[in-house]
Amino acid sequence: MMGTRMAGYFGTGGPLARSLPSFAPRAQQVSVAQAVEEALGQTENVALIEAGTGVGKTLAYLIPVLKRARPDRKIIISTHTLALQAQLAERDLPFVQSLSALPPEAAVVKGRGNYLCLQDYDAARADLWTAGDPQFAQIGRWSQATETGDVNELDFTYPGWGDIRANPDTCKGQECRFFDRCFYFRMRRAAQEASVLLVNHALFFSDLALRKGTTPDAHLLPDYDFVVFDEAHHLETAAAGAFGVAFSSARLPALLEKVRRTARVLDINTDRLKTIAQSAESLFAPFQQAGRPEFFVHDVLPRETDMEQSRGQVAVVGTLLDSLALELLKQDTQGQPALKDRVDGLRRQCVRAKEELSLLFGSDNPNFVRWGSLGRTQNRAPFATLNWTPISVAPILAEALWAQPRTIGAALISATLATDGGFGFLRERLGLPALADPPTLPAPTLAPDTRAKKSQKTESSISETIVGSPFDYEKNCLLYIPRALPPPSDTPAYAAQAAEEMLSLLEAAGGGAFVLFTSHRALNSAYEILTQSDLPFAFLRQGEMPNSRLVQAFKQEQNAVLLGTQSFWEGVDVPGAGLRLVIIDRIPFAVPDSPLHKARVDSITQAGGDWFGEFALPQAQLKLKQGFGRLIRTSEDRGVVAILDTRLVRKTYGARFLQGLPPARRTFDIDDVRAFYVPDPQEKEAVTTR
Ligand code: SF4
Repeated sequence: MMGTRMAGYFGTGGPLARSLPSFAPRAQQVSVAQAVEEALGQTENVALIEAGTGVGKTLAYLIPVLKRARPDRKIIISTHTLALQAQLAERDLPFVQSLSALPPEAAVVKGRGNYLCLQDYDAARADLWTAGDPQFAQIGRWSQATETGDVNELDFTYPGWGDIRANPDTCKGQECRFFDRCFYFRMRRAAQEASVLLVNHALFFSDLALRKGTTPDAHLLPDYDFVVFDEAHHLETAAAGAFGVAFSSARLPALLEKVRRTARVLDINTDRLKTIAQSAESLFAPFQQAGRPEFFVHDVLPRETDMEQSRGQVAVVGTLLDSLALELLKQDTQGQPALKDRVDGLRRQCVRAKEELSLLFGSDNPNFVRWGSLGRTQNRAPFATLNWTPISVAPILAEALWAQPRTIGAALISATLATDGGFGFLRERLGLPALADPPTLPAPTLAPDTRAKKSQKTESSISETIVGSPFDYEKNCLLYIPRALPPPSDTPAYAAQAAEEMLSLLEAAGGGAFVLFTSHRALNSAYEILTQSDLPFAFLRQGEMPNSRLVQAFKQEQNAVLLGTQSFWEGVDVPGAGLRLVIIDRIPFAVPDSPLHKARVDSITQAGGDWFGEFALPQAQLKLKQGFGRLIRTSEDRGVVAILDTRLVRKTYGARFLQGLPPARRTFDIDDVRAFYVPDPQEKEAVTTR
């Protein structure tokens, strides 16, 4: 019955077909909608759904969600990217609402720091540092005109936003004199009344971490019954971020600068500020000299005595912050409410900084790893960030999100969620119960896996659905693996051989290519070789300009070649003939030097597991699927994906990668690639599957 209802919505005579001129019924879309609707039927149900490109997954979940949502049965839709959140808020959700005579209310809920704080803005207006600043004046005009106070409305980046955004340290809630007009609380009231809330993963898990913390009544979101996680392949990273701590070496100097600014009208011991700055500097100094982008804290502090010394420094900084907080508490701010608000906020920031530093250096939870990274500010100033991150979020989520009896249900959706034909890896990483009877793997073969993927009910409360793309990959896409290439290595000789392959491919396609790398080093050495060739294409390299401008430039140039790493493997959408070739330099195994990756590998090994088969391989399978997915974005798109890694066919594990890719024709022969780009349909037919 449920299935029939969903099929009615998505069928040829249904409301979607009547309202969208370009709508094409897709069985895959109905399967996704049914899976979500079934999960919504019981509050504790969980639906795991992989839906290939072009399924129309947002409409597939929005229709059952909007049918079920009520103000007293709120449903959250959580995305990883702001881009998808904006697409839902501005296009998909209003469209689905328009299909109903009485649509449920929806609200976009963002993290507090996205909203202008009228109290702090008012205080900043009195500050010397804002006087004469034309951008601050622009903020002033915007604050009068905006309905939302959402920073995303600004068409420029305001460097002082951190001083005027809503934040828990300075917010006085109902006691604030701006409370009635407050943008943040206006949004929260709207969220309270709404039936559907659009959030991002970071906010969802921050709320969850707060609910599971020492003050369980504290929360950022209203209570909810069901959550749809779109872009669900990012859940582990988002949860790890929210349940961990990240502390930048720039944080205390920024706090001290704020205190200094306020100290002009206060009685503050400025020597203490200098002492805190010096102590913090010596605490972070060894990390800033770590000499590599990411590192374990114990590599920088290898001896127990080094760690003890740092803990001693943390204690000193903590004591100084306590003293500063006390000094701030004693300030005479009578009759100056704005000043009192600011001083209270600074005091709370001192307390929070001390608590987080203590956690960072003091906790001995074996499920957490201490590690650091180096970065540069917009002004190119170097800084170090120290992190205390869960090695596995599985036990945390098992208790905080999935604990029995579950009070909420969920649907986890993405184009890249399944590995080895199932969700075992996802379940394991996110703390969901394992499947009793996992699917068997196909034998290694170069033939595409064309088995029909069917919705498969497993346990009583967790369903698994895998639907492929409705696009005709067999006709429109060719997967090329250069058989003669040796296995990838980091030698210059291999780089030259791989670049030769790239040149042949680019020549065959006439440009219009993404070249995706697993490391900056490989990218740079390929760039050097490719730009010295006589190919007449514009070569765009990641890092030369912001990624969004690179993509824009790629779209404007007819036959450009874009070389990118990490951020270009997913989320970049270039439909049409402008992108007709994707070259992937090698199987995207995680960088072995990453501390978090190493800690996870060690943890699996210590538990007697097979880190390669259980962790590194499935992780790389998902990443490869994401890279492959850049090519075919619409039913008209056609092109070649070339993966320059013969381990796909020489290693037994290669089958695990190939079976998860879309069913494109496959070849070892560069002549087939050349033939693919020849417009004559007769020649295209000559491409054979080997
Ligand atoms: S209620 Fe809080 S966030 Fe809103 S204006 Fe006042 S202090 Fe700022």
